[in-house]
Amino acid sequence: MNRSIIKELLKSNEFDTTVLVKGWVRTKRGNNNVAFVAVNDGSTIHNIQVVIDVPSFDPELLRKITTGASVGVQGKLMESKGQGQTVEIIAEKVELYGEADPEVYPLQKKGHSFEFLREIAHLRVRTNTFGAVYRIRHAMAFAIHKYFNDLGFYYVHTPIITASDAEGAGEMFRVSTLDPENLPLTEDKKVDYSKDFFGKATNLTVSGQLEGELAALALGGIYTFGPTFRAENSNTPRHLAEFWMIEPEMAFYDITDNMNLAEDFLKYLINYALDNCADDLAFLNSMVDKELLERLKFVVNNSFIRMSYEGAIDILKSSGQKFEFPVSWGLDLQAEHERYLVEKHFKCPVILTDYPREIKAFYMKQNEDNKTVRAMDVLFPRIGEIIGGSQREEDYDKLLNRIREMGMPEKEMDWYLDTRRFGTVVHSGFGLGFERLLLFVTGMANIRDVIPFPRTPRNAEF
Ligand code: ATP
Ligand code: MN
Repeated sequence: MNRSIIKELLKSNEFDTTVLVKGWVRTKRGNNNVAFVAVNDGSTIHNIQVVIDVPSFDPELLRKITTGASVGVQGKLMESKGQGQTVEIIAEKVELYGEADPEVYPLQKKGHSFEFLREIAHLRVRTNTFGAVYRIRHAMAFAIHKYFNDLGFYYVHTPIITASDAEGAGEMFRVSTLDPENLPLTEDKKVDYSKDFFGKATNLTVSGQLEGELAALALGGIYTFGPTFRAENSNTPRHLAEFWMIEPEMAFYDITDNMNLAEDFLKYLINYALDNCADDLAFLNSMVDKELLERLKFVVNNSFIRMSYEGAIDILKSSGQKFEFPVSWGLDLQAEHERYLVEKHFKCPVILTDYPREIKAFYMKQNEDNKTVRAMDVLFPRIGEIIGGSQREEDYDKLLNRIREMGMPEKEMDWYLDTRRFGTVVHSGFGLGFERLLLFVTGMANIRDVIPFPRTPRNAEF
């Protein structure tokens, strides 16, 4: 007989039919006559209740049906008389696949702290909270592809191993097959990377943007969605050393088009979660963050505030607030400033534009004032920066000048400069940190809890 998926059974009203479910025991309670076993198969946050007539089953088998054990249950689907569920299964056959010795299985009924669960990340997906987070993570990944596919954008695979540090977005992880105990040296005692696997120094990518631009200037609208790596020693609840980033890049989009896309995209994703992950969100709203649903609905129903960096600096300066990093024009806004603007001042998502060029990347479109660039950061409550983007400098001479000013290796940038040499057009793009989005959508507080196996400084377990 075929196994039924619990999510479907819970919606079924085909009572008195025989069904088979397979899953993991969440709880068992009862007495010498009847046992109630809650079984979960991962298809939904909800368990199905299995009712067992104790005297008709082997006591040895029932003893081993404990939290975490894997079972197959065949029985009649019935309308439930108990509270809290609509259907239940009256067990006829129970098969035990794998025991989970209660003496050692770490996930017993009691609630565990997220810190503890991080130490057993190989098992934490079996908890309600992490089951919900994994399912929402999947739904958001799917929605991202759907959104761009429906818009006619192409998914482009940019390299993970790169030889360019052009982006300058962060410290990089070196990729090398050289023997660290016995490094080949050049005459002036530097490491001789010409002997390395690729014949030069290579790293894990910090962003797919530069290659994404190449594709956008032929395909029109593209996006990347892949892992990115930053070897920054930032121990915050919002930074990972390995995270996933979505980077759309669009020909013929200026900064306003770019902002419109970013706002529409974020609202689409949040709406998608509200429509398709309602059970998981309801669970997280009641167990993790009581304001979650309210916050999600607020964001989809309100226009984001748009203002210049300069305007934001003025607000911060006159706020009377004591910040750890003092505010003045030229400051790279810290999470404390971003969150003040969003949470205290506007109480709404904010898109800031026209940042000082000194604190932004070389490729951003230079404004006429010679001071600022057409950058945009989207700032969200609880998160701070969720998106960073810009209109790109499409003028060959201006871009080359900036590369020289910043002392970048001009020769190695040839391939990038070619886009401006041949058929250049106005274009724009942005990067959305997938895990920052998930922090917002799930209400989880720590970025380590929205990726299955987090990589952070001094931690690469599992
Ligand atoms: P921050 O200032 O928060 O460190 P950033 O300015 O370095 O971020 P960008 O280079 O603009 O970030 O990257 C684009 C997006 O990628 C960010 O808006 C954010 O959502 C996400 N992101 C950046 N760094 C990380 C990280 N270490 N872990 C998780 N997400 C990140
Ligand atoms: Mn940024």
